[in-house]
Amino acid sequence: MSAFHREKVLAVRHWTDTLFSFTATRDSGFRFLNGQFAMIGLEVDGRPLLRAYSMASANHEEQLEFFSIKVADGPLTSRLQRIQEGDTILVGRKATGTLVADNLIPGKRLLLLSTGTGLAPFASLIKDPEVYDRYETIVLVHGCRQVSELAYGEELVARLRDDELFGPLLGEKLVYYPTVTREPFRNRGRITDLITSEQLFADIGQSPLDIETDRIMMCGSPGMLEELRLLFEARGLLEGNTSAPGHFVIEKAFVER
Ligand SMILES: Cc1cc2nc3c(=O)[nH]c(=O)nc-3n(C[C@H](O)[C@H](O)[C@H](O)COP(=O)(O)OP(=O)(O)OC[C@H]3O[C@@H](n4cnc5c(N)ncnc54)[C@H](O)[C@@H]3O)c2cc1C
Repeated sequence: MSAFHREKVLAVRHWTDTLFSFTATRDSGFRFLNGQFAMIGLEVDGRPLLRAYSMASANHEEQLEFFSIKVADGPLTSRLQRIQEGDTILVGRKATGTLVADNLIPGKRLLLLSTGTGLAPFASLIKDPEVYDRYETIVLVHGCRQVSELAYGEELVARLRDDELFGPLLGEKLVYYPTVTREPFRNRGRITDLITSEQLFADIGQSPLDIETDRIMMCGSPGMLEELRLLFEARGLLEGNTSAPGHFVIEKAFVER
């Protein structure tokens, strides 16, 4: 048995010069938990060229969806950004990852902190009805340099707000907080600064970080994750994983090569 499924690309959408998303068929045997990632890629010169990708679709959805960077000289994404409807992609059979609900101690407010394509696992999680059962409030923070880079997330949240099932859940529980660092926008600044200064909580009209009630998932650049990890640990929060749930969990949105 091959280590991956061959799936057909169903649609591709380019959001900016550096971001695109695509949907693909999903093998009925491909199971995953919302928030997990798998190895996906292309066959290049008869060999698989694979990279880790978070599923941006939820596990109840029939199709797979991914939200991707375009790295000009990146071995995979220099090619992947040219895929079209009908092309074949490879999807590893095994999904894994730490951004899953069971890796957190029960709490009341869930903070989903992301930069760039780090939004992808949270795109999956905010389509999980169980997440809304577990938490009273979910705060989705997405940080980017430019306003145009927020478009995928903005459209996703708007679509869910219009959805028959998710609309009421989002209306009651989801706070969406996009923020930009390099252009004028209604929310400005780096996530680390917004948390340290408590500006984030002031802007959304909620109480500051509280170890008793807050649980955190974060996915973004390695630098941002390290800063946030130190910040949360200094406040007594513990990192969780599959064997021991904690107050926060981390997944890198990419690794520096
Ligand atoms: C757990 C995990 C989940 C991931 N999920 C996604 C995802 O959902 N979507 C996605 O686009 N990528 C994701 N990545 C990154 C992905 O695995 C590849 O690195 C990316 O597709 C680029 O591949 P490449 O071969 O073109 O370039 P690579 O050789 O892999 O990367 C070249 C350089 O590009 C930069 N880079 C790579 N990926 C990103 C990124 N996503 N954002 C900003 N800079 C980047 C880094 O500086 C890296 O050193 C994930 C990585 C990990 C570890």
